[in-house]
Amino acid sequence: MGGRRPARHNGAMRERRWQDVARATGLTRADGTVAATIFAEMSALATRTGAVNLGQGFPDVDGPAHVRDAAVAAILAGHNQYPPGPGVPALREAVAAHQRRHYDLEVDPETEVLVTAGATEAIAAAVLALAGPGDEVITLEPFYDSYAATIALAGAAHRTIPLRPGPGGFHLDPDDVAAAFTDRTRLVLVNSPHNPTGTVLTREELTVIGEHARARDAVVVTDEVYEHLTYGAEHVPMATLPGLADRTLTISSAGKTLSFTGWKVGWVHGPAELVTAVRTVKQFLTYVASGPFQHAVAAALTDEDGRTGAYVTALADSLRRRRDTLVDALTTAGLNPSVPRGTYFVVADGAGLGYPDAVDLCRDLPARAGVVAIPVSAFCTPGGPVARELASWVRFTYVKSPDVLARAAEGLRSLRG
Ligand SMILES: *Cc1c(COP(=O)(O)O)cnc(C)c1O
Repeated sequence: MGGRRPARHNGAMRERRWQDVARATGLTRADGTVAATIFAEMSALATRTGAVNLGQGFPDVDGPAHVRDAAVAAILAGHNQYPPGPGVPALREAVAAHQRRHYDLEVDPETEVLVTAGATEAIAAAVLALAGPGDEVITLEPFYDSYAATIALAGAAHRTIPLRPGPGGFHLDPDDVAAAFTDRTRLVLVNSPHNPTGTVLTREELTVIGEHARARDAVVVTDEVYEHLTYGAEHVPMATLPGLADRTLTISSAGKTLSFTGWKVGWVHGPAELVTAVRTVKQFLTYVASGPFQHAVAAALTDEDGRTGAYVTALADSLRRRRDTLVDALTTAGLNPSVPRGTYFVVADGAGLGYPDAVDLCRDLPARAGVVAIPVSAFCTPGGPVARELASWVRFTYVKSPDVLARAAEGLRSLRG
């Protein structure tokens, strides 16, 4: 969309919603044209320089063969037309069984589960269904980049609760939580385990958020796509906290857990009336998606022979080792990482290396260390207080093969001195 003429408040080029989206995501240039995202800029830089791309957060190795085979089998078995609107029954049942097995949550697969085009669509449909002009939607900050765009699309206002860096990692301040809630709060969208900081919110932190949501009669929407990728930290779904199940939409997806991010199989569950609201919007976004992959994910989640469970356990173990490799290299480099307890991202502070602005560091890293990363400000409200507080912070992913990661670690260690 680069090169668009500046928008005017008249005629055909009157302010449109896409411009709100561009502004909310920091893509509006001073002259009114629209820039490429920093993700696109950094990926192009990686391609141009041959640097290791630790900017984009997807695995460089596919998920387990038995799940891939299940997708092939589903195609060969003829599951190639539109699946049912709410999702194939086997997957809705598998999601309900997964929630019972892992979290003791009772979910009705008939009325309380909706399959979506990844977690992204579930989030978008929930926000569009439940918030609009005059409403406020709260998220943590920094936040996953689709949140601000989706809230802008809904025409709602975005308020945030900052995650603050501390000695034991990033944490929430209860006063910040209280300050974010108002009479206009409709939704609070909570991502834990948290991308980009790698924080896994504690039961206490989640309880404080939940208490405010109840007091303001707000709906809780959770993004739990990294629910199984934690390193010793307990993942607590907010729907399991006292008094929250009847106001919580729980969202997850197969992409991160099974290393098939391209399949875009996600789901949302919650009280029937909230799921109905989300489905009402979702059916006119994509209607349905990923038919044969829904069958494969259903088989994987059902996990009768334990192969999926073994895969996920091994993935989390191996990610913990990869985290340690990268954290060690970043520490040696003087980059001051915050040790993640979940996800496959680590954030680190470039100030110690003499970079008050992480954008400059990210532009220099390919030449200096052979590595590409993303400034944390890309996950913040453009020009806002959190973007300023975290201006020198950078996000790296470690979901890359051990040899690729070793090369990146060597480059980073050479930054020292
Ligand atoms: C990757 C990611 C998503 C997107 O999930 P999909 O299932 O691919 O749509 C959503 N939220 C967070 C925090 C993510 O990191």
